[in-house]
Amino acid sequence: MALPPRRATDALAAELFAPLLRPQPPGAGWRAVSHDAEQGLCLTLAQGDRVLLVEFEPRDESVDCYARTRRFNVCVRPRFAGPDLTEAERRLVLGVVAAVRQREGLLPVLADAPAAPPEGRAAVREVSAARVLVPEGRNQYYLNPYAGCMIGCPFCYVGPRADLSRALDGQAPRAWGRWVDVKVDAPEVLRREVRGLPPGPVRMSPILTDPYQPIERTYRITRQCLEILLEAGFSPVVLTRGARVVEDLDLLARFPRAAVGLSIPTDDDAVRRRFEPGADPVDARIDALARCRAAGLRTFVAVQPMLPMDPARLVALTAPHAHVARIDRMYALDRVAHLYDGAGCPEAMTDAFFERTGAALAAGYAARGVHVDALDDLDALLGP
Ligand code: SF4
Repeated sequence: MALPPRRATDALAAELFAPLLRPQPPGAGWRAVSHDAEQGLCLTLAQGDRVLLVEFEPRDESVDCYARTRRFNVCVRPRFAGPDLTEAERRLVLGVVAAVRQREGLLPVLADAPAAPPEGRAAVREVSAARVLVPEGRNQYYLNPYAGCMIGCPFCYVGPRADLSRALDGQAPRAWGRWVDVKVDAPEVLRREVRGLPPGPVRMSPILTDPYQPIERTYRITRQCLEILLEAGFSPVVLTRGARVVEDLDLLARFPRAAVGLSIPTDDDAVRRRFEPGADPVDARIDALARCRAAGLRTFVAVQPMLPMDPARLVALTAPHAHVARIDRMYALDRVAHLYDGAGCPEAMTDAFFERTGAALAAGYAARGVHVDALDDLDALLGP
């Protein structure tokens, strides 16, 4: 059977970063461990355990960033917890920026077209995947079974970056939440990739997609990828807003090491309906978390981004079912101020709210024996 088209972005990113992706001799110092073109353009550089993520977003002079090229804002951060960039690392990143400045003219010029309105028909596109398992340093990987997410949370941070990738691929702009690319050959590609890579933890999924969004019921790409990871000895770390993760409990429970997290950013389903209207109800997600723990999996709750809530109640509802909690605030508030206004709770978008609520959650989870962690170290999350 003929495969659907491969997106142009993978080849464009490989061309843009070509001088930086050349194999380095052993002991040469920094090396590029991976590049990605699904959520903007990213390059991951590593030297031993130190990993830097260099991200290229559409140029916007109103936004602070590390450096700018003619077309991009460049952001850089250590991928795992650690100190700020050293002088040598700053020079390294400036070298990367200079290389991109020289080559960005190779990228297509983008049309300045408005996004289709949210009420437009959703676009499901079958695509062929160039790569599936992406190394992120420290023998960890991430895997996106899909690109795009039809849960469509209005606060989702990835929308503008994914828009850039779609535009580079020549796709018409569409509102976030109204499109998804299905990597129909991802299981086949993954089966080839795992043969040449050392097993390790695999994040499914970081932010570009949700592995248990409704379309998974039709395509089962996530499930097929899990089956291959199980055979090959890799350890999945799944994070979802979809209660249907329990449909794969039989499979997940067969991994020697696997972790499942549910994003549950509020205890109040009225808040959920306003801020995450496409996601499953709060009680369904708590029930899914409980069933994952009862099945013997390592479990975590991601209170991220903190939405209006009663923190003591959220802790009481979730702590019995989670080994670990991750807590974080809302960013890019200007994009979602209307949601807070509509909910009549503008105070919940202040620094004071995030500090107070974060402290109450952290203390509540700690008092119940739930470890609060940034979840960078997946081996620690997975346990022995
Ligand atoms: S479920 Fe996750 S990936 Fe999907 S829109 Fe919401 S925040 Fe974004």
